[in-house]
Amino acid sequence: MTQMPADRILINGVALTISKGRAQALAIRDGRIEAVGRTADIRVLAGPQTEVIDLKGKALMPAFIDAHMHLVSQGLKETGYILDLSETRSLSEALERVREAVKERGEGVWVRGRGWDESIWPEKRYLTRADLDRIAPKNPVALSRVDGHMLIANSQALKLVSVTADSDEFDPQQGLLRERAVNGFLQQITPKLEEIEEAIRAGVRLAHSLGITAIHDVVRTEHIRAYQRLHRRGELHLRVRMNAPVEHLDSLIALGFSSDFGDEILKLGAIKIFTDGSIGARNAALFEPYIDSSTGLAATGKLNYVQSELNALVKVAHENGFQLMIHAIGDRAIGAAVDALKAASVGPRDRARIEHLELPTEEQLQKAKELGVIASMQPNFLQWSGSGGLYETRLGLERDARIDPHRAVLDMKVPLALGSDGMPFNPLYGIHLAVNALYEQQRLSVEEALHAYTLGAAYAGFQEDELGSLEPGKWADLIVLSEDPTSSPENIREIQVLETYLAGERVFHYEEASE
Ligand SMILES: [Zn+2]
Repeated sequence: MTQMPADRILINGVALTISKGRAQALAIRDGRIEAVGRTADIRVLAGPQTEVIDLKGKALMPAFIDAHMHLVSQGLKETGYILDLSETRSLSEALERVREAVKERGEGVWVRGRGWDESIWPEKRYLTRADLDRIAPKNPVALSRVDGHMLIANSQALKLVSVTADSDEFDPQQGLLRERAVNGFLQQITPKLEEIEEAIRAGVRLAHSLGITAIHDVVRTEHIRAYQRLHRRGELHLRVRMNAPVEHLDSLIALGFSSDFGDEILKLGAIKIFTDGSIGARNAALFEPYIDSSTGLAATGKLNYVQSELNALVKVAHENGFQLMIHAIGDRAIGAAVDALKAASVGPRDRARIEHLELPTEEQLQKAKELGVIASMQPNFLQWSGSGGLYETRLGLERDARIDPHRAVLDMKVPLALGSDGMPFNPLYGIHLAVNALYEQQRLSVEEALHAYTLGAAYAGFQEDELGSLEPGKWADLIVLSEDPTSSPENIREIQVLETYLAGERVFHYEEASE
C-alpha cells in the first residue's frame, strides 16, 4: 500500500516540539500532524501536489493556547464598541479620550470603556462619577477597570441602569461598582448579537496574529449564542472552550449538560466560580491586611462566599460532571477554594483549576498538589510586581516577592497552565515577563513557560491528546516565529509571529509594514 502524500510540509526549521525535544521539519495531512523529524525524512512524504514551505531556520512550535481569556471584551475593543483605555498613561488622558468619544458619538449615546489602570497613572486614584459628569453631562458613561472587577459610572448611566448592591460593592457618590454589582450593571447594557459576532471575528483575527489558535473563554449567555451562530456557519476559526458562570449551574444540570460537550472547535468547559475580587480593586481576600488605607472596604478584602456555601456549589458542580474553575487571588480565597475542592473529594482525574492563584501559601500548594489542582496563571500580571508597582504598594515588599509564584508552583509539581486574561492578550509578552521576572519564585525557564502556554494549557482543557505539542496525530495547530525564544530569552517580547496554522490551514501571515 502506498502512503498518501502530505498536504503540506514545513522544512529546514528549528521545531520546538514541547514534548520530545527538537526537530527540523513537519508534515501535515488532513489537518493533522503526520510526521515530525529531520528535513530529509519529511521530504520523502511530499508528493507532486504537496506544498513545501522552507522555514529557512525560523522557529516552529505548537500554537499557543490561552487558558484564561475574555474574547468578547477584547473583540469589542477591537471593533471600537468599547473604548480601549489600556494605553492611557494618566487620568487626564483617559478623560480626554472619553471627551473625544462623546463628541464623536453625539449627545445621549453610550460610551463604554475598559482598561484603565490608576496604578500606572501619576494621579494614583480611581476615576469618579464627578470626573465623568464634568466631561459627559449628557451621555451615559461606564468605564471598567483593567481587571474587570470595578466599574465607574456617571450620573446619566446610573439613571438608565438600576444598581442594587451592598455598600462595599456600590458607592453611588463615587459612581463606583465592584464584583457582582459590575456584572448586574453590564447585563443591562449588553451589545446586540451582531455586535458580539463582529467582536468575536475581530478577536479571532487578533488571536491568530498573536499565535493563538485555542482559548479557554469565560462566557455569558449572549457569547454562547454568538459562538454557536458563527460555528454553525463555519466561520469560527478558533478552538473555544466555553466556561460557564456558576449562576447557570442549576439550569445546565437540569438540562443534562456536563463539561466537554461539543466538538473540536466549540466545547462546554468548566463552571467558573469567583471566590474573591482583585488586588487592583482592593477586594482580593487576604489573611493579612492591605498596607494602603481605603475607606469603606474591609482591611483584608472580601470572600464572596461563606465556606459552607462555596463547598455546596463546588460539590454539586463536581458531582454532576463539571470541571471546576475557581477564581482565587488572595491567600484567604485560595485557602477557601482548596478547602472546598477537598470537601468535594476532587481528585487528579477531575483537573479542577484555580484561576490566578496569585498569593498561595506553601501549605495551600501542597494541598493543591494532592488534589490534582491545576494552577491557571497569568504571567503578564507581573507587570504590576516590582518596585513602586501596584502589588508592592498594596501588599508590601514581602508579599510582592512571592506573588504569582510560577516557580514555586512547578517545584511543588502542581500542573501549570498559562493564559493572559486579556491584560494584554499576548502570550509572548507574558512568557517574556515570566522568564525575566524579578523574583526567583516567579521565574520560569523559556521551556517551562512555552510548555505551560501550550501543552500545560491543553491539559487544563482535557485536550493534551489533541493539542499542545508537535506530535503525529495531533491537530496541526502551529506557529512560525521570527526567532527561537530559547536563543535570546531577554528579547522574547520582540519576537514576531510570522505564520499561524489552524488544523493545517494558514490563518495568519505576517506582512511587514511598509516603511
Ligand atoms: Zn478573567
